[in-house]
Amino acid sequence: MIWCSGWELASAVSNAGGLGILGSGSMYPEVLEDQVIKCKAATDKPFAVNLPMLYPDIDKHIETIIKHKVPIVFTSAGNPKTWTAHLKSHGITVVHVVSSVKFALKAQDAGVDAIVAEGFEAGGHNGRDETTTLCLIPMVAKELSIPLIAAGGIGTGRGMLAAMNLGADAVQIGSRFVATPESSAHANFKKVVVDSKEGDTLLTLKELTPVRLVKNEFFHQLEKAYENCASPEELTALLGRGRAKKGMFEGDIVEGELEIGQIVGLIDEIKPAAEIVAELLTEFKAALSEQQTEKYQF
Ligand code: NDP
Repeated sequence: MIWCSGWELASAVSNAGGLGILGSGSMYPEVLEDQVIKCKAATDKPFAVNLPMLYPDIDKHIETIIKHKVPIVFTSAGNPKTWTAHLKSHGITVVHVVSSVKFALKAQDAGVDAIVAEGFEAGGHNGRDETTTLCLIPMVAKELSIPLIAAGGIGTGRGMLAAMNLGADAVQIGSRFVATPESSAHANFKKVVVDSKEGDTLLTLKELTPVRLVKNEFFHQLEKAYENCASPEELTALLGRGRAKKGMFEGDIVEGELEIGQIVGLIDEIKPAAEIVAELLTEFKAALSEQQTEKYQF
């Protein structure tokens, strides 16, 4: 959710009864501090910061989080041992994002409070093993003793219930909230999200950091590079710097990197975050009561 989830989206989700998350991977340290201050002013509910451990100035982000008493941190893309104890010593709840059973257990051993297990369907950075949410969640649930949050391919109330039926305690939803007025994504990217259909994204760049992208012109340039047996160095050079910003924030939908999950095929409207949260809950409750009807009695 880099370039998409700033204070307006995070506070809107928290105010609507979800847990809004600021995507700090694209924010310079002073930007994150400003966003945290604005988020606190916009909601008196808890919110969280997502902190990719690849982030170059991570110690400055950690300082901001502690200074402003952000209650919950979602760490990802790195070793959970590095920061968990430090954050927890300041009373912060730590949730770590993983894409496999092995890393879920490693994170549990590192002392995190909960796990997000994210399947192959998810947008943006993704696991190398391509384990789908349908398979990953029950496998992680079987082994884990701390709370499990399912992610990847969830964008409806029915999807929420399905994840919980598989053993999740909660769900994390990203892509659906890109198509909101509160998201900081560029209007061009929001339009791509609304227009995209099933099959319009693919996981690529496994040699660098696997990432699910919309199949735009930049994606086709990557495909050509693969056909020509490009080395990881050549792929890195083609990717360059700031592609994600160019696509998702500046709206260059031709040359930019457009990160979104497979659920994009079900997103066909931009609507306020609060409406989405309300719809998710209504659909979840309807699907739950449907499960208690005759259709499911054997
Ligand atoms: P690049 O190396 O291509 O570019 C860095 C981008 O991050 C630039 O656009 C830059 O903004 C911005 N930025 C923010 N803070 C800093 C900083 N302290 N130092 C350098 N650049 C900074 O990286 P990406 O855009 O691909 O990824 C950026 C971050 O987002 C990484 O931390 C990555 O791990 C995370 N990420 C997470 C994803 C997920 O699914 N969780 C998906 C993709 C990325 P500017 O152009 O204004 O200089």
